[in-house]
Amino acid sequence: MEDLASTGHLYDAVTDKWTMTDQAAEFLYMGTSPLPYMAPAGTRQLLDVSTWLGHDDHFYCVPVFTIAEWRNVETRHTVMNVVRCSANELSDAVLHELAEDATVVLMISSNEASFYTTMRACGDRMLSAHVHMPVILEYHSSEASLENGILDASTDVGGLLVEGLGDAVMLTLRSDDQIDSATSVRTAFGILQAARTRMTKTEYISCPSCGRTLFDLQETTSMIRSHTDHLKGVKIGIMGCIVNGPGEMADADYGYVGSGPDRITLYRGQEIVKRNVPSAHAVQELIGIIRDDERWVER
Ligand code: SF4
Repeated sequence: MEDLASTGHLYDAVTDKWTMTDQAAEFLYMGTSPLPYMAPAGTRQLLDVSTWLGHDDHFYCVPVFTIAEWRNVETRHTVMNVVRCSANELSDAVLHELAEDATVVLMISSNEASFYTTMRACGDRMLSAHVHMPVILEYHSSEASLENGILDASTDVGGLLVEGLGDAVMLTLRSDDQIDSATSVRTAFGILQAARTRMTKTEYISCPSCGRTLFDLQETTSMIRSHTDHLKGVKIGIMGCIVNGPGEMADADYGYVGSGPDRITLYRGQEIVKRNVPSAHAVQELIGIIRDDERWVER
């Protein structure tokens, strides 16, 4: 049960209750090893069909088929059947065959060198064939470095989501040759947020900093985060100077912009709300503006 904390499900042994964080996975791919207890409410297990057939729960557990198994196994879930395949298996004929079953959700992966290009071509094939099944993008990083894995996943999977290709993400990142579930889930939610597919946390837009920057950008960003990172869906721009900052944070809800030595100008959208506030008080003033807009919640 403690292991599920890495997927955003927290178990309290005293009350025998689960709580889900804002970034909890709704589906847990368990393959051939179902959870030995009831899954947390709001969560479903994906089980390989051979395991699913022998499981008691045929509703909250969802089967995962290969294309051949989907053709040959007669027992199916009444609502959702996941067909796991590689993009290259999905010819027009196969797509049309699968599309006849309204319960099919595709889980598509690619072993090709360019995940993005292969999946993009697959998305184009689906669109031209007028096939609109839900798609889970399955991405496994082969990078030894966790940081490179995060970057690759963000560009490959994020690029597809930005173009409207894909409805869900199954992401596997590794650190020290082990699957890193916590980072995989956190990164998946980060990608969904960056692609504007699903907002689960505060968003920060900061400039890269340059010779005009009027404060320590990293230190200030982490200080603002420490006060505001529980405000789901709020976008805060943190910009080093007032010359270019307001333009660079164009779609932020609030702006914290350096306007002179030790002076900060605060914005609501593109409108200046407080000018030249001493930096020692600027975060509290920013919180005040968020409160005035009734977007503040206690942590
Ligand atoms: S917003 Fe100002 S400080 Fe930041 S990178 Fe742009 S010009 Fe430099």
